[in-house]
Amino acid sequence: MIALDFEYYKPDSLDEAVKLHRKLSESGKDPLYYSGGTEIITMARRNDIFTKAVIDIKGIPECNVFETSGNQLIIGATVTLTHIAGNKLVPFLSKTANFPADHTARNMITVGGNICGKIIYKEAILGHLIADSNAIIYGEKGKRIVPINRAFNQRLQLEKGELLFQLTTDMSYSNLPHVCIKKTKQEKIDYPLISMAALKKNNNIQMAFSGVCAYPFRSIEMEEYINNKTVSKEKRIEQAISHLPAPIFGNIQGSSEYKKFVLKNLLDYTLETLDGEGR
Ligand SMILES: Cc1cc2nc3c(=O)[nH]c(=O)nc-3n(C[C@H](O)[C@H](O)[C@H](O)COP(=O)(O)OP(=O)(O)OC[C@H]3O[C@@H](n4cnc5c(N)ncnc54)[C@H](O)[C@@H]3O)c2cc1C
Repeated sequence: MIALDFEYYKPDSLDEAVKLHRKLSESGKDPLYYSGGTEIITMARRNDIFTKAVIDIKGIPECNVFETSGNQLIIGATVTLTHIAGNKLVPFLSKTANFPADHTARNMITVGGNICGKIIYKEAILGHLIADSNAIIYGEKGKRIVPINRAFNQRLQLEKGELLFQLTTDMSYSNLPHVCIKKTKQEKIDYPLISMAALKKNNNIQMAFSGVCAYPFRSIEMEEYINNKTVSKEKRIEQAISHLPAPIFGNIQGSSEYKKFVLKNLLDYTLETLDGEGR
């Protein structure tokens, strides 16, 4: 049961959503954008969030698109993970959309909710980080387009009242060799021990991780070490691991020592798989 009593709004334009957010904020209602609702509902049941109003963004046409335009794949923030997983236009985006939760939950969970939610794993972002996607954000000042690798630093950097409404990805990435792996403690469906996505572009490996540190990340510094072919494979892996952006995050899924061991093996596998690929 949800003890929280909140108002429900479903605007049909970005402008209306942002204006509503401001109005509700000014009247002390701490509004939340509502996408798939899985996290909001779960947290509301546990009394872990407080809000007096939710703004459902699924009525906004721009948030629902899944289409190609020119050489760009455009994915609206309210598109479900099941939909992205099933449409394999950019195969590694589909594979990483298939990482979180189980099929039934992915029918509800949206890509925007996964990226903007409080749960630390945000596995659906991994494909977008390696694909150099753009985040398209809407706020009171209108639309802004930001490379996701700049917009996402531990969390998506949104100003008050802003929402993520689309992600765009260059279709030229669709044919690149890649590796997408989710390792769990035991069951196939669980939070990740470590999940990883990597691709090879212009002879360089680009890679992103969830479950290693307390937030998902892509590290250009680690990539420089992993792509340094002047040293041995073992050295490349060791140097990459010693330049993680934050300490390895030990938890119920695995201790930091065990995660380090798994990460080492994943990097080894990635190099074995992608290093010989010619692109
Ligand atoms: C059974 C289950 C298993 C799970 N397992 C995993 C897992 O293995 N890996 C993993 O990564 N996650 C996992 N999750 C977490 C899940 O990914 C989140 O609950 C989900 O991502 C939230 O998505 P949603 O669309 O339901 O978001 P909502 O509940 O609608 O919103 C979540 C938060 O994001 C904000 N928000 C939503 N959309 C936007 C937007 N477009 N712009 C700005 N803010 C926005 C909301 O205000 C809210 O604060 C699991 C969840 C469930 C229910």
